[in-house]
Amino acid sequence: MSAIATNLQAVRERIAKAARDAGRAPAEIALLAVSKTKPLADILSAAAAGQHEFGENYAQEGIAKMLAAPVAVNCDLLWHFIGPLQSNKTRLVAENYAWAHSIERLKIAERLSAQRPASLPPLQVCVQVNVSGEASKSGCAPQDAFELCRAIATLPGLQLRGLMTIPEASDDLPAQRAPFRQLREIYESIRAAGVPLDTLSMGMSHDLEAAVAEGATIVRVGTAIFGERNYA
Ligand SMILES: *Cc1c(COP(=O)(O)O)cnc(C)c1O
Repeated sequence: MSAIATNLQAVRERIAKAARDAGRAPAEIALLAVSKTKPLADILSAAAAGQHEFGENYAQEGIAKMLAAPVAVNCDLLWHFIGPLQSNKTRLVAENYAWAHSIERLKIAERLSAQRPASLPPLQVCVQVNVSGEASKSGCAPQDAFELCRAIATLPGLQLRGLMTIPEASDDLPAQRAPFRQLREIYESIRAAGVPLDTLSMGMSHDLEAAVAEGATIVRVGTAIFGERNYA
């Protein structure tokens, strides 16, 4: 078995255990393999080990991998854009990705909707919320999430699925759970107000257990599958 296949198996077991501990079915939680900075060969190893959904942070980098992948493999893969989304990158995302997790402004959502080709299904989107309130982190303010969701839900090129967050890193389980719980509470309140959502995109390599305990439906895992990233 390749190292990536072994790592994937270990991550799947972590998700399954966290789900059982929380009284949830493991199948409720999808694993998104975050392959930013990693070569296509690593993605193909993961795909050979049964992984179908991949997350990329840089629009062009992900598209280069999609185009380089063998067509017979790529037609089974689903690509999620999870990085910061500027206006000049919306067309690349709208034309090439199945999902975008990082919507934080209506203007970006409107561009994605207008640029989504009619030949493709609507782009599946999440609103990114800055629950920790750190100035450096992206995402809309918690109090703005409802209005943003309501507006996005009317855009024809998009299908609003839920909320995403990247909280401040912490090594302590209760501290990890607090921002995930906050995101879930925002999610519940938006659903209660009549906007249908089914996705909570939260949890990464170091905190996926906390996220699953608080209701994550997608965990985004890079390092624990592909190893440390080298940005040199
Ligand atoms: C890089 C990244 C991840 C994966 O982080 P790891 O700690 O490597 O698991 C998840 N989500 C987003 C938005 C990322 O940028």
